[in-house]
Amino acid sequence: MKHENLTSEMMFMEIQEPLLKWYRENARDLPWRRTNDPYRIWISEIMLQQTRVAAVLGYYARFLEAFPTVQILAEAPEEQLMKLWEGLGYYSRARNLQRAAQVIAKQGFPDTYEDLLKLPGIGDYTASAIASAAFGRREAAVDGNVLRVATRIADCHDDILDVKVKKAIREQVQAIMPDTAAEIRIFNQAMMELGATVCVPNGAPKCESCPVKDICLSRQRGTSENLPVKKAKKERKVEEKTVLLLLRDGKVALRKRPNAGLLAGLWEFPNVEGTLDEQAVPAAVEALRLTPKAWRSKQSAKHIFSHVEWHMTGYTLEVTGEGVDELLWVDAEELTAHAVPSAFSRYYAEAKEQLK
Ligand code: SF4
Repeated sequence: MKHENLTSEMMFMEIQEPLLKWYRENARDLPWRRTNDPYRIWISEIMLQQTRVAAVLGYYARFLEAFPTVQILAEAPEEQLMKLWEGLGYYSRARNLQRAAQVIAKQGFPDTYEDLLKLPGIGDYTASAIASAAFGRREAAVDGNVLRVATRIADCHDDILDVKVKKAIREQVQAIMPDTAAEIRIFNQAMMELGATVCVPNGAPKCESCPVKDICLSRQRGTSENLPVKKAKKERKVEEKTVLLLLRDGKVALRKRPNAGLLAGLWEFPNVEGTLDEQAVPAAVEALRLTPKAWRSKQSAKHIFSHVEWHMTGYTLEVTGEGVDELLWVDAEELTAHAVPSAFSRYYAEAKEQLK
């Protein structure tokens, strides 16, 4: 396969005009595209990280209804924030949003790429996306869609997981950005939109409907479907867990996760590392200062995070006893009010069923 030098190949100033024209005529009408308000754009960008547009729409509307300003978000109760985020995953995003909101509420909204980068939860891509869409700054926002479009147009076969390659692509995309604020605001969106709707991943891109088809090198050379090049990802780590659904007098036990690490500070069903069999479960229950009374059921579940997979075995059992202080006993209604991450959704449904 021929390797091209992106630095020279991306000097395609000609893509700007057809791309922007196409975007104006074809872009999906999404609520965060109807505004220049940095707060709204920021919320949408954080929600859209690792999450599909269709899944974000409802969350975005509910979130802004509950927290219409950065000040209200800064002062929001954590439980309410987590509840509104429930199901979106990657909960550290919500925590970082609030930490950043507290900074913004005091200091005002940063309006440059460099200052945006200083906020918690804002990386290269998000800083560029906000700086360009909200403030008309010439900063290329390069996500997976843009990497795909750029490498295909340039027929670049370098590994996009290599930070040097990614940096070079960002520089080149930035070099072909328009000069006026009005066009800058939509250029990044247009590149992303092309990647999301026309120059799609997994299968053949829809080159016939592409506004840059006459310029695109990979189309001319028939290499589009091999691009972008990514080296194999590292395998995810598998962690085994035993989840205990403990029922006592019509209530189920929850506990709070530690304040740091995966799913920090969220509510979970008590669980221990490793897969325990039926003989080993009573000792785990007794360690929580409870006594098993009757078995109800056993369920297996799996949850996949970006770097870790949880393989869970769950036991539902009735218990008696005082229980350790860290356990919170909730009935069906109170359970709904607590943000239990979707990693436990199988057990959440089981608990709801048992508490009926
Ligand atoms: Fe992608 Fe095809 Fe357009 Fe090239 S012509 S940018 S491969 S959709």
